Amino acid sequence: MAIVTLTESQDPISGLAKLRNPADIRAFLNLSLRQIAQFVTDPTSHNQNIISRKTWWAWENGTRTPHVDQVRQIEQVIAVALHRELAYDSMLDESPRKFIIRITVGARRWTVRAYVACARCGRMYNLRRIASRRCARCVNKAKKGR
Ligand SMILES: [Zn+2]
Repeated sequence: MAIVTLTESQDPISGLAKLRNPADIRAFLNLSLRQIAQFVTDPTSHNQNIISRKTWWAWENGTRTPHVDQVRQIEQVIAVALHRELAYDSMLDESPRKFIIRITVGARRWTVRAYVACARCGRMYNLRRIASRRCARCVNKAKKGR
């Protein structure tokens, strides 16, 4: 069976590094304001109501910042979307690896990273390309022939 290797432009994992704010994330997920707001709840709401489009819009404008629980929800939306997309693309003889998404909300920009367990040592490392299997430490060890 031929091994399909995603090119960088086809690899959605490599696209994560380009996401700098909530607008980038929404474009990456190809969702409207109404659609993405449905995935995030309002922590001040007793009924766990979803946020309004205006709330997400305020995040895109930088006039408001999401609660940490809401950031965790956004991470989950990205992870689910990527796992679903990669499941379609993955080779039949390889079970898709589970990775987690972590967003850091900085003053100037957001950082979106995927983390996955190294196939060799098991440590979680920052996954930059979907074809990556081992952490930098294990890759360097292999290069030195150890
Ligand atoms: Zn490793």
